[in-house]
Amino acid sequence: MTETMSAESKPTREVHKSRWRELNVAGAENHKASGPVVYLCYRDQRARDNWALLHALHVAETKGKAVVVLFVLTESQLRLGHRHSLFMIKGLQEMQKHLAALNVPFHLVLGEPAAVVADVIAAWDAAALVTDFSPLREARQWRDSVAGSIQIPFHEVDAHNIVPIWITSNKQEYAARTIRSKIHRNIPQYLRAIPKPRKQDFDFSNTKGSFGEPNAVAWDDLVALAREKGQSDVPEVSWCEPGEEAALRALKGEDNSFLTKMRMNKYDELRNNPNKPAALSNLSPYLHFGQLSAQRCAIEAIGFKKNNPSSNKSVDNYLEELVVRRELSDNFCFYNDLYDSVKGAASWAQETLQIHSSDKREHLYDKEALEQARTHDDLWNAAQKELTSFGKMHGFMRMYWAKKILEWTASPEEALDIAIYLNDKYSLDGRDPNGYVGCMWSICGTHDQGWREREVFGKIRYMNYNGCKRKFDVDAYVQRIRREMKQNRYFNEK
Ligand SMILES: Cc1cc2nc3c(=O)[nH]c(=O)nc-3n(C[C@H](O)[C@H](O)[C@H](O)COP(=O)(O)OP(=O)(O)OC[C@H]3O[C@@H](n4cnc5c(N)ncnc54)[C@H](O)[C@@H]3O)c2cc1C
Repeated sequence: MTETMSAESKPTREVHKSRWRELNVAGAENHKASGPVVYLCYRDQRARDNWALLHALHVAETKGKAVVVLFVLTESQLRLGHRHSLFMIKGLQEMQKHLAALNVPFHLVLGEPAAVVADVIAAWDAAALVTDFSPLREARQWRDSVAGSIQIPFHEVDAHNIVPIWITSNKQEYAARTIRSKIHRNIPQYLRAIPKPRKQDFDFSNTKGSFGEPNAVAWDDLVALAREKGQSDVPEVSWCEPGEEAALRALKGEDNSFLTKMRMNKYDELRNNPNKPAALSNLSPYLHFGQLSAQRCAIEAIGFKKNNPSSNKSVDNYLEELVVRRELSDNFCFYNDLYDSVKGAASWAQETLQIHSSDKREHLYDKEALEQARTHDDLWNAAQKELTSFGKMHGFMRMYWAKKILEWTASPEEALDIAIYLNDKYSLDGRDPNGYVGCMWSICGTHDQGWREREVFGKIRYMNYNGCKRKFDVDAYVQRIRREMKQNRYFNEK
């Protein structure tokens, strides 16, 4: 991948036609609109390195229009844990600042996109609507609904994947091995330098009282509202500062960022050791909220490798996770409507889970016991506490954690529901295609193969405590989480 990637290639301002697609073509171009091109920001909540914003700016330029950004904050987003809603709101506040520097007005409205977007479009007499891409159900539903209710061009831009999801493959891929070559084949075209957006040359003085004059967002009130409506048992975490500037610092800042020899060079050897969390990037919350672009991470990692040949293996392994595994998750959710259901698993996996669904379970726990980390297994309990206390669980532990939920609950359906519930509720990077696929991989064998058949698991890959003991110092992990909880200080905090 890295040999073919050309980070120095000249930025082009027109976003390649294959990165976006039309969602609404009905009579659209005939409409002589007087208003702006609206970028309805949803998944990619950043001003930098954002193909959707760049595309909106380009469309606006060709039409002689302005771009304005619209963010619709939903009731369900406000009802998330404080950890999530405040991370997002603070990130959006920073995004507004960066957009202001580009002379791009930012509007935030409360409501549901399906209900409010058409009205906003009509009120502004918008010329076109651009949005970013998400393969998840909720986003698909409101996109379809909006597309059916507006008469202007509506473009969806894949600003999240390096290779646009519909270019990589036109079907659900079986596994990393089947998608890898499809991604690599497209890397030379798509893994390119990302242009910096130009400051918008538009005089908004005649648009006061309309799209050129957003209501001032009362950020403090919004934070208070999220605190009032959201789940207070999922408090904010202090180890991961929200916003695109903090994200870039965490990637490549001077002080202890991921792209330093101290950390990046250890990725190859130590990424599966839960006692070495700093060997991981820990950037997944930023990627999930779109405060950081995966393409930016890849470009910077490849640049790092050029200057640090000893990091070769580590960077290559990192890119495998960041690009191949991450984009495989989007592929799964895009092409499989049942991405969070046992019914969405491969037939061999459904069959084997069904055969073993009535096997006797040695331990049985309900959702509450699991949520409160009240199991017989100190390693599992520590992982669950890492999740609830710090909003992240080490990647290796995530697999063990989910597999034990399969082992200790009454059915695979219940196991999957509980794993997704806990992951989405507590993990700062939850509610993400990676999360659904991670749970499906662990419990339903998705993207995996059949293994030696055993009780409860059937042919689903098994993991156990002794296997963990052989891989890393289990007691040290349990002690670390205990200590960090006591000090209320996660591994990377001074
Ligand atoms: C049960 C379970 C639940 C998971 N839930 C989530 C989730 O909610 N959100 C989430 O982003 N990831 C999830 N993962 C995937 C993976 O564990 C995390 O992406 C990773 O731990 C994030 O930490 P990091 O950024 O430090 O990872 P790094 O090791 O630094 O990896 C770099 C990036 O590669 C991607 N990546 C790494 N591992 C995977 C993987 N297995 N599948 C897909 N992409 C990957 C992520 O974008 C990650 O940020 C889950 C995995 C499992 C087994």
